[in-house]
Amino acid sequence: MKTAVIGFPRIGKDRELKFTLEKYFKGEINQADIYGEADRQKEYGLNSQSEAGIDFISSNDFSFYDGVLDTAVLFNVIPKRYEKLELSAIDTYFAMARGYQKGDKNVKALAMKKWFNTNYHYIVPEIEDDTEVSFVGTKPLDEYENALLKGISTKTAIVGPFTFLKLLKYTGTKCFEDYIDIFTEEYIKLITALDEKNVEWLQLDEPWLVKDIDEGEKAIFTKIYNKILSNKKSVKVLLQTYFGDVRDVYNEIAELDFDGIGLDFVESKETLSLVQKNGFPKDKILFAGLVNGKNIWKNNYANTLQVLNELKEAGVKQIVISTSCSLLHVPYTLENETELSSDYTKHFAFAKEKLKELKELAELFETEDYESTEVFKQNKELFRNRKDSFNKEVKDRVKAIKDEDYVRLPEFNVREKLQKELLKLPEFPTTTIGSFPQTQDVRRNRLMYRKGEISRDEYIDFNKKKIAECIALQEEIGLDVLVHGEFERNDMVEYFGEHLDGYVFTKKAWVQSYGTRCVKPPIIWGDVSRKEAITVHWSKFANSCTPKPVKGMLTGPVTILNWSFPREDISIKESTLQIALAIRDEVLDLEANGIGIIQIDEAALREKLPLRKSDWYSQYLDWAIPSFRLVTSGVKPETQIHTHMCYSEFTDIIPAIDAMDADVITFEASRSDLQILDSLKKFNFKTEVGPGVYDIHSPRVPSVEEIVTALSKMRQKVSDDKLWVNPDCGLKTRGDNETKASLINLVEATRQLRGEKIS
Ligand code: GLN
Ligand code: ZN
Repeated sequence: MKTAVIGFPRIGKDRELKFTLEKYFKGEINQADIYGEADRQKEYGLNSQSEAGIDFISSNDFSFYDGVLDTAVLFNVIPKRYEKLELSAIDTYFAMARGYQKGDKNVKALAMKKWFNTNYHYIVPEIEDDTEVSFVGTKPLDEYENALLKGISTKTAIVGPFTFLKLLKYTGTKCFEDYIDIFTEEYIKLITALDEKNVEWLQLDEPWLVKDIDEGEKAIFTKIYNKILSNKKSVKVLLQTYFGDVRDVYNEIAELDFDGIGLDFVESKETLSLVQKNGFPKDKILFAGLVNGKNIWKNNYANTLQVLNELKEAGVKQIVISTSCSLLHVPYTLENETELSSDYTKHFAFAKEKLKELKELAELFETEDYESTEVFKQNKELFRNRKDSFNKEVKDRVKAIKDEDYVRLPEFNVREKLQKELLKLPEFPTTTIGSFPQTQDVRRNRLMYRKGEISRDEYIDFNKKKIAECIALQEEIGLDVLVHGEFERNDMVEYFGEHLDGYVFTKKAWVQSYGTRCVKPPIIWGDVSRKEAITVHWSKFANSCTPKPVKGMLTGPVTILNWSFPREDISIKESTLQIALAIRDEVLDLEANGIGIIQIDEAALREKLPLRKSDWYSQYLDWAIPSFRLVTSGVKPETQIHTHMCYSEFTDIIPAIDAMDADVITFEASRSDLQILDSLKKFNFKTEVGPGVYDIHSPRVPSVEEIVTALSKMRQKVSDDKLWVNPDCGLKTRGDNETKASLINLVEATRQLRGEKIS
């Protein structure tokens, strides 16, 4: 049996590409330097895979920034505003990815969006009515040839036409339908070019197919591929899907003239039964995605071999074992984790270790009595009960959760009235989202403490000084509900994970999030519980600095789970409930310590929303929303619960957001034309709202007039007694000066709104 990998990470084992690019962006190095680094990274990926004996290795999976953007450039989909900058090809590319500002030239970056249900973000290409779509690039061919020079015959991987058309943003009057034939023609040119170079395999990635596909879309998909496939000569075409199953188009796919079909057996519940029920075409190769490309746990060989056996029984003749998606979504290698005990690492497989798993599985499958092999037995041993991950107390607590634990009483309206009487906040209360600028001194303090260069007391004293200053600043500015500033945190998940039992941390397990940005998700190792009070002493201290209310500041259970590598031995629902109980303890502790307003951030609530709408509630929201409520249901009626979300893309789940039953929600609205407010009105949203009045992602200071205008628009949709005034996210990435200036304007605008005398 042969082995395949859909794609390999590219940011560098030690994030070399990231650092090289950042130097280039600062003008410290030149183009030759970044191309040199790119070559090294491509070579590392190719060598790792070929040394591991992988048969189908991708090329063109490298990217300087993002593969969707690469595809756009390949087909000349470049908005005019970037072409007008008259930069070199690579700098035009970076201008699209990151924006461009020099002299009087100032062009914003293209939008960025979540790549399906991952924490990777792609650049959204824009097509204009007069864009001349044309296969002009050479990247796929160049990468193929370079690999060949190293003796490796690769499959060329590229985003397929259907998914690409779906991801495009149509900025003119033309739409999706207008471009179907045009792109079909250009993809045919690509295939012809590959044919001419004798490329053996082309992998077309079509993850869009795992979403709900209606009859019209099916017809379009079939039309595109009928045409494309009738134009191939010697090159074989692999249709690669991932992130779920293709239940809506399985039969259409099977009938088309593909040479290989890649299906995801890890993330989908239905793939195996789809094959069993419908059969699999004898003349095609099944690329069976059985090694998880999204998580870091060792593969369970017994289970995987069982699936392979069932596929064989179902009559599938040719099987290649593959990853469930690109390995882009996992860290490079355990070789980097020198400080983590092998008690842990023996359970993990990062990208490089997954290559070995593919190979072992392929060999085992061809071994008659594989169950008696050492490799198999060792693997099996790993999946016997991991005792240290089990905490009876936690398990019992989750079991004991009752329906009423998910319900906060009294109901919202009663609480709202009570809180208004008690808190006596002015009309349109002003607040911020939590963090204040993470200036160098703040980061240095944390780092020095981590390295043991300063004592715990010194570390704490410094943060207390920062908190006191931050409170004084907010009082001076005239904000109504204050925050402590979050100087103790590097990150909103890792910080909490460090104070919870059941978490494991890595040193270098970075995963690309977008462009040069990487995240290092902690690993949920076992049952989670609160080791100790987490934020109480900071909040208590902040509260003691002022007569004004200071919000307690926590991260919610769904976000903590979604930004961690989850367990596979229990459901993510169960893990989330465990985390919810831990955060619930913290909430009650804060309340007992006199904190009357507590914010629980759910920045990543949407992260694991299923790709099929029909699964949204039954597979996710039905437990994710109650998990949040479990955190808050124990507080007194007068304690005000806030939540915050980073995006405004929740128009389609507004009833679910309202059902979180928070008292106040703040969210990003400044960049989305306030559309969401229409929906809030339509759904009769009960929760009080703070739609961000300015964009914190830019250093620009918003003027008073601008904020007044935004607020006036908001007042048309939100009743005065429910409207809060705040920026759209935390201020940690901003500088001190612009932060102060912006908040002064925010308060001034609010005062004007209240009709107070302008000072
Ligand atoms: N409270 C956090 C902050 O202000 C929220 C961060 C976020 O939404 N990503 O930084
Ligand atoms: Zn945010």
